[in-house]
Amino acid sequence: MQKRQIFVTTALPYANGHFHIGHIMEYIQADIWVRSQRMAGNLVHFVGADDTHGAPMMIAAQKEGITPQEFVARIASGRKAYLDGFHIAFDHWHSTDSQENVELSQDIYKRLKAAGLIYTKDIEQFYDPVKGMFLADRFIKGTCPKCGAEDQYGDNCEKCGAVYSPTELVNPFSALSGATPELRSSTHYFFRLSDPVCAQFLRDWVHGKGKSGADRVQPEVRAKDEEWLEDGKLGDWDISRDAPYFGIEIPDAPGKYFYVWLDAPVGYLASLKSYADKMGFDFLEFLTHEKTEQIHFIGKDIVYFHTLFWPAMLHFAGQPYRVPDNVFVHGFMTVDGRKMSKSRGTGISPMKYLELGMNPEWLRYYLGVKMGPTNDDVDFSKADFLARVNSDLIGKYVNIASRAAGFIVKRFDGHVADGLDADPIVNELRAVVPQVAALYNDREYAKALRLVMEKADVVNEFVDREKPWDLAKDETKRAELHRVCSVALESFRLLTTMIKPVLPATAKNVETFLNCGELTWEGAATPLSSETPIMPFKHLMQRADMKQLDELMPAKPVEPEKPAIEPIAAEVKIDDFSKCDFRIAKIVKCEHVEGSDKLLRLTVDLGEGKTRNIFSGIKAHYKPEDLEGKLTVVIANLAPRKMRFGVSEGMLLSASGLDAKDGLFILEPQEGAKPGMRLR
Ligand SMILES: [Zn+2]
Repeated sequence: MQKRQIFVTTALPYANGHFHIGHIMEYIQADIWVRSQRMAGNLVHFVGADDTHGAPMMIAAQKEGITPQEFVARIASGRKAYLDGFHIAFDHWHSTDSQENVELSQDIYKRLKAAGLIYTKDIEQFYDPVKGMFLADRFIKGTCPKCGAEDQYGDNCEKCGAVYSPTELVNPFSALSGATPELRSSTHYFFRLSDPVCAQFLRDWVHGKGKSGADRVQPEVRAKDEEWLEDGKLGDWDISRDAPYFGIEIPDAPGKYFYVWLDAPVGYLASLKSYADKMGFDFLEFLTHEKTEQIHFIGKDIVYFHTLFWPAMLHFAGQPYRVPDNVFVHGFMTVDGRKMSKSRGTGISPMKYLELGMNPEWLRYYLGVKMGPTNDDVDFSKADFLARVNSDLIGKYVNIASRAAGFIVKRFDGHVADGLDADPIVNELRAVVPQVAALYNDREYAKALRLVMEKADVVNEFVDREKPWDLAKDETKRAELHRVCSVALESFRLLTTMIKPVLPATAKNVETFLNCGELTWEGAATPLSSETPIMPFKHLMQRADMKQLDELMPAKPVEPEKPAIEPIAAEVKIDDFSKCDFRIAKIVKCEHVEGSDKLLRLTVDLGEGKTRNIFSGIKAHYKPEDLEGKLTVVIANLAPRKMRFGVSEGMLLSASGLDAKDGLFILEPQEGAKPGMRLR
């Protein structure tokens, strides 16, 4: 069979923080794929790297008084614990702040320039005179030009959602120094993405297929790309930033650096080159080989960069660069159907998961059963996690080995029976192996694992039916016992083969226990040999329990939902309402009440030919002089109330909410109302 040779990457994590669960999910998806390819005998180089450049990194390092390189090194040194912890087997981990990346990025840029796709233009931009640098949008704050909310970012308002450019902000200031930024002009370098040739190339690219025959991008991604590629929509791309900037210098352009998003994806190639140098194979030869496939796994938030900028950069740079064969896009992880949020305590910390001693293969399996080839979000639920792990992995899969192995070891010195080839159960399982391998290749993990569990059910039903524990009691049924347990173990070998990309550590233990060599797709055809004894069965996997999950994701006490308004009072009849006599009143006079810090004394005219005296607790909200002469509403037939300061002959109506901070408001009728008019 013609073997594939594949170069696989995952999106480069920004080196300003440790991995979060979203990274781990992506790496697990890619790792499962890579392992299934290797089981087919394909050559795979699986590489990653830290994305290091850009203003945020520079500023984070500045804050700590260290260099960006030191900052990156600290984060990078923590990567291995996560990757090993979740059995993510990158061949190599590199950095975009590397010599390889400088050379490759500059080379690609020079080629694009030679192709006539780079030009310069002066643009006006905010400059921080204190820090001595141009400010990215995220480092400019000010008052929203639309709603007046203060302290909003330079590109959009969190209060009203308005989108604007930083120059539209009212009272802009630098988030770094607090200084008022100045508009300054600077020369920027642009990639002419709007060139019709680029748009045409990209339209063709998104509709194409990779070398394996798989669509370059998923249908939902293609649809999004098509929107972006509609006539004239694709703008040119500003690829330069002014010094000081932590990044790669643009050749022949002193003080200009590549925008981090230009050199970040080149980091894929830099990592491959570094790996090639380390392993002693020829980077250029591999990259330009006609058989080589270049495949990127990414999240749906960075589709624009990976399916427009990146293929265009590579295509127009020309040989030895090659366009990606496939960009496989996944969704985000949600928890109980909601986006993860640290403030709501719904996040999952991958390091905490490992520290709690939870089995990384539980998570790999759980994500596997939830993941398909689309970019739909993947939902994590504790109860579901527990059910999948315990009923599938322990109850169905591991159970088969524990039921059969003991008899084979104790009664048959570890030797399985001959003739497993002819067994109908074995044949049924063997027949689905290529199907499962193909499903992994198509990233149909959920379907692959469902098929594996269906076949595990078949085997368990067989064992239940044949009852080896009963056969073992009857010496005349020894051959029968041998056959049943051997079929169960061979079935277990086949099931392990099919689940190996997801459970690599368990599969390794099974390979040792069955003494069967490395499990591969092709090897499925060769059953366990009666010549080679198996090893005594060792426990393969613990059950998951809710206590661990509760520790991983503590359930926050459910706060009673706070109503937005005071609940509506019990229903009344119109007669009840008419009993209350509300009248328009003119505030003739209003004064402070000596000795009271709450009350105002109002003299009101209801058109009765006399005035009334009313005390009202509105001193905190109104000044007496502001109310005199105004019309308002009072209840006129309320029994007079004797108070410390006199008798109140009515009550002023006012509005207030649940939160005292929202204030208190007396009512004022529309113009034309006259004292004494009744509300009905
Ligand atoms: Zn606003």
